[in-house]
Amino acid sequence: MSNNKPNTDLYSDFQLQYIAGEWQQGKDDGVNTDTNPFNGETLVEIQQANKHQLDQAYKAAATAQVQWAQVTPAERASLMHKVVDILDQRQDEIIDWLVKESGSTRIKAMVEFSSARAITVEAASYPNRVHGEIRASKIPGKENFIYREPIGVIAVISPWNFPFHLTQRSIAPALALGNAVVLKPASDTPVTGGLLLAKIFEEAGLPKGLLSVIVGAGSEIGDAIVTHDTPSLVSFTGSTAVGKHIGELANSGNYIKKLALELGGNNPFVVLKDANIDNAVKAAVFGKFLHQGQICIAINRIIVEDEIYDDFVARFHAHVKTLKVGDPNEQDTSIGPIINKKQLESLKDKIAKAKESGANMIMGGEIKGQLVPPHIFTEVSADMDLSCNEIFGPLVGIIRAKDEQDALVIANDTEYGLSSAVFTEDMEKGLRFARGIKAGMTHINDITVNDESNAPFGGEKNSGIGRFNGEWVLEEFTTLHWISVQHTPRDYPF
Ligand code: NAD
Repeated sequence: MSNNKPNTDLYSDFQLQYIAGEWQQGKDDGVNTDTNPFNGETLVEIQQANKHQLDQAYKAAATAQVQWAQVTPAERASLMHKVVDILDQRQDEIIDWLVKESGSTRIKAMVEFSSARAITVEAASYPNRVHGEIRASKIPGKENFIYREPIGVIAVISPWNFPFHLTQRSIAPALALGNAVVLKPASDTPVTGGLLLAKIFEEAGLPKGLLSVIVGAGSEIGDAIVTHDTPSLVSFTGSTAVGKHIGELANSGNYIKKLALELGGNNPFVVLKDANIDNAVKAAVFGKFLHQGQICIAINRIIVEDEIYDDFVARFHAHVKTLKVGDPNEQDTSIGPIINKKQLESLKDKIAKAKESGANMIMGGEIKGQLVPPHIFTEVSADMDLSCNEIFGPLVGIIRAKDEQDALVIANDTEYGLSSAVFTEDMEKGLRFARGIKAGMTHINDITVNDESNAPFGGEKNSGIGRFNGEWVLEEFTTLHWISVQHTPRDYPF
């Protein structure tokens, strides 16, 4: 900052969008009304962008990226450090937005802020971690140089559940590595998933055009952002259904595009008979109910070995009864509102299906507005809807496993393979079990909800393609260019 004094005036004008380096009014007919999911208050009304504005964003990105790729690594690193400073100065403002726009409890908002900060710090190291190679050639007089270059322009599409972190997890590495970004945040979280980050990067001095945030209707720009000729890579975080659609779209236009897909999960949390039950219960409660269960890596199924099943259920139930459901802005609230009416309806449907299918509901309660109290179902079988599908809410089914082998079969009985966890006091057994799970991530004696900026985050099976964080996203968001030099005249056969 030029005068060395941090700017701490609250950001404003979120009815505008950051397109091609200017804050513009959207030009489509539709309006995106951004509401507080706890009290229904309108936070901001955003006129949506149209295809022409999307095109403007891509043109500016393509032009700005060429120069950005030439900027020294030190300069790009320094920009990321400025972003970290601004995050720190504006921590309270960011957390307030997360609470009011995404229904985050204060605990979850802090977890999210810390994760976004950590990936920005990691991203600041990327410019100086990019390196090429020189390889010997089989041809006399030749040298092979392998350059690692930015991909170019990256389309980023992010979800509403951890909007600030999951957007920053793509855009900070992308920009640090010399790319430009055109971002479409989820319509429930246009501010925390996009516009707030645009303000932060602008304040940090990011050159114009490198980051555009497009708030638009799925029908107008949803597909167009993917099929546009400019982006070489689409980084999508969201549901498996939409991810499959994006995967098809990405290669249906004029150009083949790379894909980074972070999709849904059906994460098993397994408690083996020798586990420390109290520790397992505490982890299960936090890993299930953080952010009302609306996390891709939240616990979706609890699988408990028969011998300790009843004991686990009793202690789990007792702990869940202590959770406060209510205003996410109150420090002691554990469970806040569901993001929107559509998600609420899907949870009501899941509760009805669980009852119909014969699961035993040992805890429920009245749904008030968008507040859903924790629902616990026991004697849930592996073929019930609660076990087969992603819940994304504060409902949980507890499955009884005959033994360790049975628990593993149940854990793997899913189309997904994102996160997972196993509790046991026997580390050999824990590692053996963990390695038997077909998933991108398994945590022994911990929750399924873990994301560290230096550990590979991603899924197997229908949970996605690629990995975030550390050197994995560095590779994902760059590409290789083999340049050979024939130093002496080569002897050709004819
Ligand atoms: P979603 O798939 O409905 O939407 C994700 C994003 O895609 C939003 O920005 C949405 O507007 C956009 N979108 C929807 N249709 C589109 C189209 N046709 N073209 C382009 N963009 C389109 O998901 P959601 O409801 O926002 O998020 C919840 C889902 O995301 C869950 O399934 C969850 O597991 C998953 N998720 C995965 C991760 C991960 O890292 N693996 C993280 C968070 C959420």
